[in-house]
Amino acid sequence: MNKQKKPLYYYYFIILLIFVLINTFVLPLFSTKIESVAYNRFMRDAEEEKIDTVEIGDTSIRYTLKEDAGKIYETETMETDTALSERLYASGASFSRIHTKEMNPLLYYFLTLVLPIAFLWWLGNRTFKKMQKKLGDDAMSFGGGFNPMGSFGKSDAKVYVKSQTGKTFKDVAGQEEAKEALVEMVDFLKNPEKYSKIGAQMPKGALLVGPPGTGKTLLAKAVAGEAEVPFFSISGSEFVEMFVGRGAARVRDLFKQAREKAPCIIFIDEIDTIGKKRDTSGIGSNDEREQTLNQLLAEMDGFDGSKGVIILAATNRPESLDPALLRPGRFDRRIPVDLPDLNGREAILKVHARDVKMGTNIDYNAIARATAGASGAELANIINEAALLAVKDDRTIVSQRDLEEAVETVIAGVQRKNAVISSKEKMIVAYHEIGHALVAAKSKHAAPVHKITIVPRTSGALGYTMQISEDETNLISKEEAFTKIMTFTGGRAAEQLIFNSITSGAANDIEQATKIARSMITRLGMSDAFGMTALETLNNPYLGSDTTLSCSAETAAKVDQEVITLIKKAYEEAYRILEEHKSKLHELAKFLYEKETITGEEFMEILNQPSHF
Ligand code: ADP
Ligand code: MG
Ligand code: ZN
Repeated sequence: MNKQKKPLYYYYFIILLIFVLINTFVLPLFSTKIESVAYNRFMRDAEEEKIDTVEIGDTSIRYTLKEDAGKIYETETMETDTALSERLYASGASFSRIHTKEMNPLLYYFLTLVLPIAFLWWLGNRTFKKMQKKLGDDAMSFGGGFNPMGSFGKSDAKVYVKSQTGKTFKDVAGQEEAKEALVEMVDFLKNPEKYSKIGAQMPKGALLVGPPGTGKTLLAKAVAGEAEVPFFSISGSEFVEMFVGRGAARVRDLFKQAREKAPCIIFIDEIDTIGKKRDTSGIGSNDEREQTLNQLLAEMDGFDGSKGVIILAATNRPESLDPALLRPGRFDRRIPVDLPDLNGREAILKVHARDVKMGTNIDYNAIARATAGASGAELANIINEAALLAVKDDRTIVSQRDLEEAVETVIAGVQRKNAVISSKEKMIVAYHEIGHALVAAKSKHAAPVHKITIVPRTSGALGYTMQISEDETNLISKEEAFTKIMTFTGGRAAEQLIFNSITSGAANDIEQATKIARSMITRLGMSDAFGMTALETLNNPYLGSDTTLSCSAETAAKVDQEVITLIKKAYEEAYRILEEHKSKLHELAKFLYEKETITGEEFMEILNQPSHF
């Protein structure tokens, strides 16, 4: 929704104004003119025999004149004037008495003012409800029961019970630690006595922290499904995005509802949108957000642990949260939700494969090994992409090949089979990729080559060498890091060696190699010159590799020099390896050029054959 959205009452005010204007200025133009006159004027008009017709009502007399029939004169009935009818008879006017029940003024106002307003109100409500429906049915993040007039300041949090999210812990794979922590909380809500007997206090709030797509929102939904208590869910951005000036009121209302429904769970997704560090500079600060945050802090303090209200929140950016939120008594428990490991990835693939018709002997482990670093969301996407590929091929069952292709689609961009590249270019790319693969194969610390392809991707890459380590490793040795740099430089080295010219195809390799070299020197203590000194700190371990240099300018210059030297050394080493195995390089590049995609096994087979050249 739009941030500059005007509050609702603004629109109602405008409608009311238009209505009043119409009533006072436009409507009278269409009705006959009635002129009020004094009684003596009426008597004189009668005496002078000017009167045409007279209607004598209970409280007023209306009459018209002979000479001006379009105009109506009105005067008040005078009870004391008993001779009126005789005088009128004498004047020759036609007169009659009418029992106009004068309209009750209350009824009059009801018909002209209250009814139209009520109608407009109803119309407005209806339109808003429609808009509401269109705006989003994502039940998890968008609240329901929103009534534009009746609920100013009401939170739009939605209450969930078990059946509504349809998710349980079974739907979450590979996040065992997070699940364990949450199971404990669910248990506390179900059996509070068990905990109070010992005197144990549950933390008031828990913060799910981890990179995007790892299943934080999913975990919260699962908690809702398992806990069987009311579950209020709202996304942080809704607090600020909806109607300006209502964020704080919303928080207040959310907690009020929660207190009434306790035991229950409040889930605030993407809490960083409201929980950002408050700006002390005063420039670019956001009053609205600050008020919302202050209200949230106040509400959390107003709880005591025995109330049975647990506050869950999720964020990708824990470092940007206001420290006040993390103080004891607020979100004092952090539940890390990290990227899945090898087993986790396999489990996640299997969870999502339940919804899809899969072939009988699918090797999930192989797919899991090929997707190191992928998030749960990406893995779910791979399964779906594989299913789409099968459909495209008119098959009803997903095969291993579909999965492998889906890995590439999701991780490296969609294959562009019909993109035209010249044969000269294709040749260069083939040598480049074999350069990577050969350097990796001839180094001790490199992961084995799984697949090499020179089919271009939409991501822009013209070729791609996939390496898969045998097993998950969390530690990387200095030698392995150096070998990685060497492998990255292998592509360019092959171009130089064979064509004696270099291309832009190594741009990404250069970036990657530099990144590794830099972190080896500044963060991992893997250089002789600096040893174990942290020269750079990672700003956000989850999003990208934003770093801040924490050393003097001279040291920074020396670091740059070290990086250059390290990469140069790796390049020379790679070049030496390729030179030594030049005949194999030719043979493999030719093979790749013809086949476009070769497997790790094919690669190793040719590599291990006695050379033809
Ligand atoms: P986050 O909130 O951490 O950014 P989500 O919970 O929105 O991530 O995850 C997006 C989708 O990815 C989920 O709906 C689910 O399909 C899939 N997914 C992510 N993590 C997992 C997991 N651990 N197990 C199963 N599916 C997962
Ligand atoms: Mg989320
Ligand atoms: Zn390359």
